[in-house]
Amino acid sequence: MQFGLAAFFPVAALAVLSAAFCTAAPAEKNPGQSSFGAGRYVEYVAGDLPIVLAAPHGGRLKPDSLPNRTNGVTEMDANTQELARAVADEFFARSGHRVHLVASHLHRSKLDPNREIKEAAQGHPAAERTWAEYHAAIRGALDAAIARHGFAFLVDLHGHSHPVARLELGYALGAKQLAVSDSAFDAAGLVAVSTLSDLHARLGGRASALVRGSGSLGDLFAQRGLRAVPSPSEPGPGAGPFFDGGYTVRRHAGGDTPKVDGLQIECYRTGVRDTAENRAKFARIAAEVLSQFVEEHYPFKFPAK
Ligand SMILES: [Zn+2]
Repeated sequence: MQFGLAAFFPVAALAVLSAAFCTAAPAEKNPGQSSFGAGRYVEYVAGDLPIVLAAPHGGRLKPDSLPNRTNGVTEMDANTQELARAVADEFFARSGHRVHLVASHLHRSKLDPNREIKEAAQGHPAAERTWAEYHAAIRGALDAAIARHGFAFLVDLHGHSHPVARLELGYALGAKQLAVSDSAFDAAGLVAVSTLSDLHARLGGRASALVRGSGSLGDLFAQRGLRAVPSPSEPGPGAGPFFDGGYTVRRHAGGDTPKVDGLQIECYRTGVRDTAENRAKFARIAAEVLSQFVEEHYPFKFPAK
C-alpha cells in the first residue's frame, strides 16, 4: 500500500510543508501493516500501542535519481533500522500488540530526516517530498496513538560512535543544562522546553527526578546493565560529545506538542546494535524499560500476551 502526502495534507497546502498542516490523522490501519510513501523511501508500520518508534538514519537506499547531500553528516547509523524492528518485534512478542514504526529507507547521504528541511534535503524536490512524508507519517502515528490512548510516546532511535559506550538519552536538554545540581535544574524550569514537558506538566514533582532520578529511563536502563546518561549515577554527560535530541524529537515531542512526550535514544555499537543477537538483547531490555516507564507515568497498562 502507498500513502501519499495527499493522505495527510490538503493538496493546496503541499508547498507549505508546515507542521500546522499536519493535523489530519490518516485512516487507522491494521496493526503490523506496512505502507510506503513515494519510491518506497518512507515506511510506516501501523501500531495500536501508544509508542511511536522512528528510525531516521538506518536506511540503505542510494537511488541515482536523488543527488548526494553535500553538507552535514552523511554517514548512516549502522543497523538502527534493524534495531528498531527488533524493538517493535519484542513489543509484539510481549503484548500481542504493535508499536507504530516509521523508518526512512533512504541512506543518509540522500536525505537526513532528522534535520530541518534545508539541511535535510538540500533543495532537491523529491528529497523534500520524502522529508515531508516522513514527518507526516510520524505525526499521523502520534495522532492515531492519541486518538486511541489519549497520549503518545515517541522514541527516535539512533546510533552514535562516541568514545564512551553508554546510551545517550536526548530530551532536548544539553550538556550544560544537565551540568547543574538537581535543585538548580528544577529551579531553571528547563523541563518545560524538554521532550518530557507534557508529562511533567501533568504529574508535577521534581523535574530532575523525571529526567534522571529513580525510575527515570536512564535509571531503568542502568538497572538492567546498560550505562545511560542522564541517569542517577551519570546525571549529565560532562565535557565529551553528547547528542541531546535532534530535530525530530524537538518538533514532535518538544515543549509545544500537546499529549506527546518522548526522547531520542542514541545507542553505542558493540553489544547493542552490532549483531542480531545483541540487537535482540537490547530490544528485550528496551521494551521492558519503556513499558515500565510508560506504565508508571501514564494511566496505561500494556496487555500481556
Ligand atoms: Zn542518528
